[in-house]
Amino acid sequence: MTDRFQAVLISRDEDKNQSVDMVELTEDDLMEGDVTVAVEATTVNYKDGLAITGKAPVVRRFPLVPGIDFAGTVTRSSHPDWKEGDHVILNGWGVGETHFGAYAARARVRGEWLVPLPEGMSARDAMAVGTAGYTAMLCVMALERHGITPARGPVVVTGAAGGVGSVAIALLAGLGHHVIASTGRPAEADYLKDLGAAEIIARDELSNPGKPLGKERWAGGIDAVGSHTLANVLSMTSYGGAVAACGLAQGMDLPASVAPFILRGVSLLGIDSVMAPKELRLEAWRRIATELDHAKLAALSTLVPFKGVIAAATDIVEGRIRGRVVVEMP
Ligand code: NDP
Repeated sequence: MTDRFQAVLISRDEDKNQSVDMVELTEDDLMEGDVTVAVEATTVNYKDGLAITGKAPVVRRFPLVPGIDFAGTVTRSSHPDWKEGDHVILNGWGVGETHFGAYAARARVRGEWLVPLPEGMSARDAMAVGTAGYTAMLCVMALERHGITPARGPVVVTGAAGGVGSVAIALLAGLGHHVIASTGRPAEADYLKDLGAAEIIARDELSNPGKPLGKERWAGGIDAVGSHTLANVLSMTSYGGAVAACGLAQGMDLPASVAPFILRGVSLLGIDSVMAPKELRLEAWRRIATELDHAKLAALSTLVPFKGVIAAATDIVEGRIRGRVVVEMP
């Protein structure tokens, strides 16, 4: 008999009404792939929230098991890079969008999508980082490639109390940057300072329509918010600086002017984690494992049981999650 396991399943009826249920699946129900993984931990990212609530068209195949990232152990493999017992991480590649994802005890994926779990990291640690944290590292690496060193001036982080923001603050502070954290949750000031923020600014300083060019306040930025916030971050970036843009928590629009680009030589660096090449992923995870303070990672993450995953998905799109959520598998 094939073992049954719990999974979250998103379905749609003929009228395109979406429903989300806890179901039981077997490995025979999984999609094609050359590696099967026992999922040991997963997480709730903003995109998972959008998928489960149906607020944005993240899911492009129904029915679908959502969940864009997991860490676990290989149980079966016909891929040359992986064998039974290997510890692996998966981020993106359309998993949880077009391919059955992380919210099930088993996942079957393509071997080239996986990276090894770094030495010394547990599956839970990896999911405390998750796609949000790995994206924060991709942002840091992009700023570094642009020459944004601590000596150049402060770095602003928007959506600071969220997943990308929290990990970005911890990483940047660890590298010696003066971090300015922008948040709509002033009650989280102590949390953000403990992660390493040197200054806290109110979200609404940046979230309203602003001027094409403002006072130069920072050399770099990591923006998880988009819309007016990103436009204002750009307008206040100092000469030759750069902003890594990865998110859309405020909106997908970018009501900006070209002034920061043509008058201050500011660069806008686009960050995508989903299709990022393997070398970049390996470098990001290697650096996360060695550079992210363990105590800070523990402080920014909370554990929820598997049955709480649907509620946590609603909470994240409502802006009620602080830092990162790790989902414990049943
Ligand atoms: P979170 O929900 O954890 O964080 C988003 C934060 O943005 C919130 O905590 C809040 O921070 C702030 N925020 C929320 N709503 C608004 C609003 N209306 N206006 C201004 N600020 C707002 O999400 P994640 O950190 O997981 O993801 C952040 C963004 O990055 C998402 O848009 C996500 O889709 C994107 N992302 C992109 C990736 C990529 O590959 N490019 C990969 C991973 C994430 P505060 O309360 O501190 O103000």
